[in-house]
Amino acid sequence: MNNMTSKPYVGRFAPSPSGPLHFGSLIAALGSYLQAKSQQGTWLVRIEDIDPPREVPGAADAILRTLESHGLLWDGELVYQSNRLDTYQTQIDRWIASGDAYYCQCTRKQIKESGGFYAGTCRDLALSQDGTAVRLKVDEPVLAFQDVLHGNTPIPEQLAREDFIIRRRDGLFAYNLAVVMDDISEGITEVVRGADLIEPTGRQIFLYRKLGATPVSYLHLPLATGEDGGKLSKQNHAPAIDNRLAGDNLCQAMHFLGLTPDAGLAHASPAEILAWGVENWSLSTIPKNTSIIAPF
Ligand code: GLU
Repeated sequence: MNNMTSKPYVGRFAPSPSGPLHFGSLIAALGSYLQAKSQQGTWLVRIEDIDPPREVPGAADAILRTLESHGLLWDGELVYQSNRLDTYQTQIDRWIASGDAYYCQCTRKQIKESGGFYAGTCRDLALSQDGTAVRLKVDEPVLAFQDVLHGNTPIPEQLAREDFIIRRRDGLFAYNLAVVMDDISEGITEVVRGADLIEPTGRQIFLYRKLGATPVSYLHLPLATGEDGGKLSKQNHAPAIDNRLAGDNLCQAMHFLGLTPDAGLAHASPAEILAWGVENWSLSTIPKNTSIIAPF
């Protein structure tokens, strides 16, 4: 559901290449695809490769092959965030010059020791760049937003009020900045992704306002977790998707999202399964939980 009815729908899937696609990321890919295609929308794919220490060589290509073998074919050109570093830096330079952002030398340890939230310690110190992070001043925090699935969604207040990092001490750009600048430049109208990204949404909406843009609409899908309730990830050895079982994988992911394909559909081609999904997609049957244990 897109509340900007006059604008054509543009959705996206934005994986980080920190490993091959697993069931949790298939949910985000499929949910964003079905939501876009059920509104005759465009569905884009963007590789969020701005954190080399967390990246696995070959993972971006493996993710793309998995999307293709599941019939999840993106529209338009692929975007790689690693090609956009100058754009992020230019924006940071502007905010430093205007006084909207500042260099910060506080370590994670110091922040933890002073209560866990950053108190603006370096705001007025006029530090220079060497070995520092860059933080954006948060003067009007976003304390809640409307989620398409969850309605009014509060953001923990201390988190919302914190001046947050837009470039890390190690020189890498922060996810929040890159994701918002790219969603704006690609004309995204709605972001559909896992509920683990509910909390950063406040900062992201703040960034839209700061950049003079209208925020997208947000729909956070239940997150697939392991038995222990932890997010499925490469770190906890979530199995990579087996491309030979595309039909089963798609049907399992559809069940997870509240659809009820019959068992026989798993033997159809990915394109046929997806066409059934687009036809039957309904926001009203998506579970409202923010996490659900994965079905294996
Ligand atoms: N790249 C992020 C991830 O893989 C997702 C970004 C987003 O959907 O906003 O967790």
